[in-house]
Amino acid sequence: MHLGQDRELDALRMRVRDLAAQYAPPRHSRTGVRAPEAHEIPALRKWTAILFSEQLLGVNWPVEYGGLADAHPLHESVVADELIRAGAAGPVGGGLLAGAAIVASGTTAQKDHFLPRIRSGEHIWCQLFSEPDAGSDLAGLRTRARRDGDHFVVDGQKVWTTNGQHADWGYLLARTDPDAPKHAGITAFALDMKTPGVTVRPLREITGTADFNEVFFDGVRIPETQVIGEVNGGWAVTTTSLALERSSAGSGASLFGALNRLVRLANDVRRDGRPALERDDVRQAIGGFVADVHVNALVSAFGDSRALHGTGDVADAPVSKILFSEINLALHEYGVQLQGHDGVRIEGDAQVHDDGWWQDAFLYGRAFTIAGGTNEVLRNLIAERALGLPR
Ligand SMILES: Cc1cc2nc3c(=O)[nH]c(=O)nc-3n(C[C@H](O)[C@H](O)[C@H](O)COP(=O)(O)OP(=O)(O)OC[C@H]3O[C@@H](n4cnc5c(N)ncnc54)[C@H](O)[C@@H]3O)c2cc1C
Repeated sequence: MHLGQDRELDALRMRVRDLAAQYAPPRHSRTGVRAPEAHEIPALRKWTAILFSEQLLGVNWPVEYGGLADAHPLHESVVADELIRAGAAGPVGGGLLAGAAIVASGTTAQKDHFLPRIRSGEHIWCQLFSEPDAGSDLAGLRTRARRDGDHFVVDGQKVWTTNGQHADWGYLLARTDPDAPKHAGITAFALDMKTPGVTVRPLREITGTADFNEVFFDGVRIPETQVIGEVNGGWAVTTTSLALERSSAGSGASLFGALNRLVRLANDVRRDGRPALERDDVRQAIGGFVADVHVNALVSAFGDSRALHGTGDVADAPVSKILFSEINLALHEYGVQLQGHDGVRIEGDAQVHDDGWWQDAFLYGRAFTIAGGTNEVLRNLIAERALGLPR
């Protein structure tokens, strides 16, 4: 295989670009993986349906649920890359994560009910995993689900729930056996977010937007038919979606767009009456970022290539994710620094560069060092599982 010269993938890239240009709903120019505003949801449901019906997403699902028999192993990562390059939204909510869990562990009735509704955009999903005291140590979660006849009754709290304010369904992890070893007593559920006892409270973040939520459960009744996988077997169900979340975190397509913006910014910003871009130190810094961004893209492609040949390593996805998130942070920090005093201006200020995109990207950049496993935890993972160092 020649990296970047695969006809099938090149054709796919063109198709994503065409569809995005034709149908993707307009987006506010904020960075990152953000929850949309309520008024954007109807258009995003339609866009999600287009992405699935054009077989850009869900291609690894069984053919009877709309998957492709001979999907290219890099199909979905190429689609994700091109959507980022086009500045287009991805599918709304966590339907791909929940769908992967249902495909791998759900009953036929669950697949028949949920998968078509994820594809059509009718169901927006959120992921109800993290809790105030269970993030990196997810298996330490305390939200309880007690059996009561043919139902489970859930009490507890989740936090950092992206899209919780828009979600129709939640992919919930709760503790069903408090006496079992901690990974063994957890069950995965599909939770109708309109069930009485579910309260969603948006959290306002440092960026000024509310992408996350706290979700509270007070005597929430879930029918046993909505258990995904085995009762007390939720950890195995979860590993499917966690692997998907980590592998999609680090391709770094957004960094090329940020580089273009950085060059434009350095041309706009004045130093001693001249564009900052004419200064050696600025040109050297930009050159350094170009090198970093290319290294990141190559490392990510190297991981893809190894996965294609069955020689992938447990460190591949974590290495890409750490590299991407740290270059991303440094690049945006530099963009703000380059603006000097104007760096403190924000979106809405008539004199701010690029409508405050840099300030927002600088603040949001920290999220990528946390989501999908914090960089510290991933470094531990590389040390222990890839290098075999002692715990
Ligand atoms: C953009 C974004 C979207 C998210 N969306 C969702 C969502 O939809 N649903 C959901 O359930 N969650 C979501 N999360 C939450 C995310 O999964 C958690 O933030 C993450 O697992 C870290 O957990 P924590 O925030 O509790 O931090 P903690 O685990 O409390 O960590 C705090 C600090 O301690 C460090 N640390 C912890 N353990 C170790 C260790 N063993 N060794 C060294 N250092 C350690 C961490 O690196 C970190 O710096 C999202 C987070 C982000 C940033």
